[in-house]
Amino acid sequence: MDKTEIRKSAICVFCGSSYGTDPAFRDAARAVGAGIAKIGHALVFGGGSPGLMGDVARAARGAGTAVEGILPGFLRDVEPPLTQGETTEIVPDLFVRKQKMMDRAAGFIVLPGGLGTYDEFFEVLTSAQLGVQIKPIILVNVNGYFDPLEAMLQASVRNGFVRKENLGLYRIADSADAALAMMAEALR
Ligand code: AMP
Repeated sequence: MDKTEIRKSAICVFCGSSYGTDPAFRDAARAVGAGIAKIGHALVFGGGSPGLMGDVARAARGAGTAVEGILPGFLRDVEPPLTQGETTEIVPDLFVRKQKMMDRAAGFIVLPGGLGTYDEFFEVLTSAQLGVQIKPIILVNVNGYFDPLEAMLQASVRNGFVRKENLGLYRIADSADAALAMMAEALR
């Protein structure tokens, strides 16, 4: 698959550069990676091999789809890329990485993660809110990991800081399979 094709049909996954404590997180990461291949898309992601992001990429590659990583140069040692099967673009910083991931993806799947994952989720959500870029955003709520985030967002609506309809800019799936089905439907 050449780069043009990657750009046409890629799904971007945001997730932890750690594994987290629940083994279900890794299961979901692998299922998302393999599932992206199964529904006929390439993967765009942050480019590193550690944590859930590495699991997603290895699973996608193992299932035979193109994997494109976008990695800031300064993270090369902290989050080294996969040693094979991944096209890695080295970019100057986190901002360029986010911009490129956003531009290249047709939609976003968010798995459990930490501050970087939240940052990326809110970047695509606020972009959608402002109409800059509206693409499907699906959270995979593995064992309720995102329940507190959802509660916070609902509280923001109740307190008059977020318009209710903006919570319709993302969807929550209970499993990797459900997320992939939602994404396939949204991109059809
Ligand atoms: P984390 O969820 O914190 O494990 O981070 C997941 C991914 O987001 C990793 O590849 C981090 O390098 C990346 N990341 C961390 N902080 C930021 C940020 N401020 N903007 C964009 N990406 C970030």
